[in-house]
Amino acid sequence: MDSAAGSCNACGATGTALMKLSLGKDFFGRTYDRLSPSTDQSPKWYCEGCSMQKNLQRDFRDILGEVDKLTAGQGSTLSTQEEFQRASLRLREIATILAGAAGHSPFLTAADVTRLIGRMQTTTMQT
Ligand SMILES: [Zn+2]
Repeated sequence: MDSAAGSCNACGATGTALMKLSLGKDFFGRTYDRLSPSTDQSPKWYCEGCSMQKNLQRDFRDILGEVDKLTAGQGSTLSTQEEFQRASLRLREIATILAGAAGHSPFLTAADVTRLIGRMQTTTMQT
């Protein structure tokens, strides 16, 4: 691997396998162009733990954006029961993973996830 001499862009880990992260699709299946190979101007390298966390953060951000739209009364992917359900489950999954990765979550805190789960529960009550 040509990145062997590098370090993880998130936690700075060295001497471990690093992977270049290209996030092709977002949680809702839309093209996520910020880090897609063709438009990615500054590729990042993450160790295994951080790349997993980076994916969690990406899903969290996608869901957060849609919850924001939903609470603002704008059209949102989450206005369908199915997507809302799927996003809720994913958030719980993320919360569980974060709880098990204590001390190694450079991108996301469990408190952020808990807060968003709370917001989604409130939103359900309104509809
Ligand atoms: Zn790392």
